[in-house]
Amino acid sequence: MRYLVISDIHANLAALEAVLEDAGPFDMIWCLGDVVGYGPDPNECVVRLREFDHVCVAGNHDWAALGKLDLEDFNPDARQANAWTQKQLTPTARAYLEALPLRIQREDFLLVHGSPREPIWEYVLDLGQAVVNFTQFDERICLVGHTHIPLGFVRDLVHQDYHVLVPPYPAPVALNSPQMRMILNPGSVGQPRDGDPRASYALLDTKAKTWELRRVEYPIEITQERMRAHDLPRRLIQRLEIGR
Ligand code: ZN
Repeated sequence: MRYLVISDIHANLAALEAVLEDAGPFDMIWCLGDVVGYGPDPNECVVRLREFDHVCVAGNHDWAALGKLDLEDFNPDARQANAWTQKQLTPTARAYLEALPLRIQREDFLLVHGSPREPIWEYVLDLGQAVVNFTQFDERICLVGHTHIPLGFVRDLVHQDYHVLVPPYPAPVALNSPQMRMILNPGSVGQPRDGDPRASYALLDTKAKTWELRRVEYPIEITQERMRAHDLPRRLIQRLEIGR
């Protein structure tokens, strides 16, 4: 199976469309949460995602849009965007987000938004956090989002050590060794934060056993224009073009 692995779309339809077009043929989408929040197209992104055979876990912004999290836990810009999103959601989009689980297990993989230990809030940004989280799931590979930074962590069971996979990778990462456990992050479709404003995603081929990170340009100005039209926070509009 060839999976399109995406995360943190954040209501950015232009970015999602660019990824869908760039990905080429795939069998199914695995989405790691935060479909909505920050961006101008929450309902449109839910509708588009539902056109595909897919599974999706809940992210913190999905829960915030449903009123399941205290908006005081977010910074002022995110809080304002979340309050706007809450008002925009159609009953259908709301019902869709309500039904998203925290964890999904498929084949050798666990899918969560933040971390296996704390799926809604925890960021796996460094090796220390990865080491702790390797003890929190039984599947061989865990796919995470939330940080908006494409990154990978490997636990080598033979040598009993760990290492970090920092992109850009020279070639698709091989997933075929049963001795390697991994935590992999495809980066963010709709709001990258690694200094590269292009939409980030991954293609996972479970037959060839490869993980390929990809970036694709999208018309950022379209998303920014729509955010301006809805009076969303200036800083959120600007950050899209710098990728931070
Ligand atoms: Zn996010």
